Amino acid sequence: MSSSPESGAVASFLELSTRAFSANVAAFRAVVGPGRKLGAVLKGNAYGHGFFETLAQAHEKVDVLYVITPREALAIRAWENERDLDQHEVLVIGAASPTECVHLARERVAVVAAERGFGAVVPALRKERLTLDVHVHLDTGLGREGFTPAQVEAGEADFLAGAGDVLKLKGVLSHFANTEDVTEQSYAQAQLAAFEQGLSALSRRLGLPAGVQRHFAASAATLVLPPSRLDVVRVGISLYGLWPSTETRLSARVVLGEVPTLEPVLSWRTPSQVVKWLPAGSYVGYGCTYRCGAATRVAVLPVGYFDGYPRLASGKAHVLVKGKRCPVLGRVMMNHLIVDVTHATSDEAPVVATLLGRDGDEVVTAEAIAGWAQTIHYEIVTRLGPHLRRVVVP
Ligand SMILES: *Cc1c(COP(=O)(O)O)cnc(C)c1O
Repeated sequence: MSSSPESGAVASFLELSTRAFSANVAAFRAVVGPGRKLGAVLKGNAYGHGFFETLAQAHEKVDVLYVITPREALAIRAWENERDLDQHEVLVIGAASPTECVHLARERVAVVAAERGFGAVVPALRKERLTLDVHVHLDTGLGREGFTPAQVEAGEADFLAGAGDVLKLKGVLSHFANTEDVTEQSYAQAQLAAFEQGLSALSRRLGLPAGVQRHFAASAATLVLPPSRLDVVRVGISLYGLWPSTETRLSARVVLGEVPTLEPVLSWRTPSQVVKWLPAGSYVGYGCTYRCGAATRVAVLPVGYFDGYPRLASGKAHVLVKGKRCPVLGRVMMNHLIVDVTHATSDEAPVVATLLGRDGDEVVTAEAIAGWAQTIHYEIVTRLGPHLRRVVVP
């Protein structure tokens, strides 16, 4: 395992595997089949993988890009302009103000209409003589954004009918509440039924245009709930090679007959800052929570909770050095970790530690770190510091 050649800095870095990302795209293409679009969700700094690093791969490999903020969507357009690339289909699935919608209309980015107040964008668009592509978000049981089917039936989305000169209805979407938490999908089935109800209410009140795009499934539903795949799927976590949950993996075996191979895209590594012996009886780290029972060779690593390594993993975590597990001693600090390398190395030469990813026969998964930190792996990867150097490897 060699340290990053580019910088020589004593700093941790993320390795992003192009091959793994492509393999995950291919796995999802195989799952959804040829007649359906594949969309990638780039929110949360592309799940911590790095927005632009991921965009560079996703842009040519998937059909639609989903972001949360107008800013991210405009960043995609600027990135395309710099490279003379065609404009990709982009949808802002988060909130956008009327002013932001005007910018997005100009850049031909689609937005989501999720509540009655969205109608405020209409006069702004008319004034600028712009049209905006809109997807209606239906709340079918998540309790987050979107019109409930009852609200559609009560006329709350009717403003769209009177604004056909500036708002072009391109899609209808919803989002599942717990497909990844269970192996029986009765709640998701109820959400699908509510979606049908919302769709027919929309078509009665607004008259849905032919070819309107229906989309619902994120990673888990795409894998384990075939009726939810509709016209396009919005895949986040699993394009980065992570299973939404153990339940999803179990269900996939049943539903698909085999478990697709997902390959984690990201590894997190760091060179050591110092390797040294601490005599028996030495304390390690803030709070003196760990005391060496015997002379211990430690490696001090320039990584801490500032970088996204969770402090809650203190006293539980291990990293890999030369393919061997090395326990994290004492508390995770803001910028440092101290690990026991007594048996992993034979001298005090610098080492490279793998915080997340594979080294030899051993692997530290995002799920393992999430377990130590009492959270989910989505949070572990998303919180990887935006400042960390991201190295794209073949
Ligand atoms: C986050 C999100 C997704 C992707 O979810 P994953 O579980 O990461 O695949 C899809 N759609 C919406 C609306 C989301 O917020």
